[in-house]
Amino acid sequence: MITAEPTVRPRLPEWLRIKLPTADTFSRTRSLLDELKLHTVCESARCPNHWECWSKGTATFMIAGDRCTRACGFCAVSTAKPLALEADEPSRVAEATRRMKLNHVVITAVARDDLKDGGADHFRQTIEAVRKLNPCIVIEVLVPDFNESDVAIETVIGANPEIFNHNLETVRRLTPSVRHRATYDRSLAVLAKVKAHCGNSIHTKSGMMLGLGETEPEVLQAMADLRAVDCDILTLGQYLQPTLKHLPVVEFVTPAKFAEYQERGQAMGFVHVASGPMVRSSYHADEFTPSSEQR
Ligand code: SF4
Repeated sequence: MITAEPTVRPRLPEWLRIKLPTADTFSRTRSLLDELKLHTVCESARCPNHWECWSKGTATFMIAGDRCTRACGFCAVSTAKPLALEADEPSRVAEATRRMKLNHVVITAVARDDLKDGGADHFRQTIEAVRKLNPCIVIEVLVPDFNESDVAIETVIGANPEIFNHNLETVRRLTPSVRHRATYDRSLAVLAKVKAHCGNSIHTKSGMMLGLGETEPEVLQAMADLRAVDCDILTLGQYLQPTLKHLPVVEFVTPAKFAEYQERGQAMGFVHVASGPMVRSSYHADEFTPSSEQR
């Protein structure tokens, strides 16, 4: 039997409905980002927390352009031939961070498979520029897999970010359909390499979207796989289909189930677990701050 493609997305359960704030801070964040010509994953990935985070005066910077070289089935960031890197982007991110008075900044990037180093040196420059202008800040990077390049990974960690985040995104079985240009084992290997180089002087972090059709044993296995490479911080959130062209939501995971995963994660030894329908990698990222002796 041939079934027609769905033309509407399913109605969201109550716990995923967003109440729009009216804070002036949202407009100020908007103006600042426009003035400094910066991209954010908040907008590019159509994050459902966009209103909340910007109204609190925070945002996640997306460097190296707004065109990604991959086309993951869940992600709303546009896929196209990327433009050249902008040499002054690191200083613009630093200036935005200073003006926003951030004490914890999250910096991510599109995948730049067109560049020999995958954009790693651009990350390094951005971390260094942010640190120079904001000496006390906690810097968290959310990086692509750099095709597991040792040189690229060492370049980023050489700039001493406090938190190195690389998302597993989904369970092993679903990885080929959710991230067809990535592999589950490569992502684990990236996290393992960071720990092998830095030990406990850096916190590693990873996250998954739930609701793509994974089973509970698969989620628990992925969490165990992350702990096996000493991953410190875990985020779990509900996958939401950004457009009808993206992968459909298979299930709305209940808040109670997210709470259960949070407990399971803590019992497995993660230092910090954020698990809830609206959780994203960078959502309330400043709730985990490495202690000063670890910095
Ligand atoms: S959760 Fe992260 S990506 Fe989403 S709006 Fe907040 S800071 Fe931006």
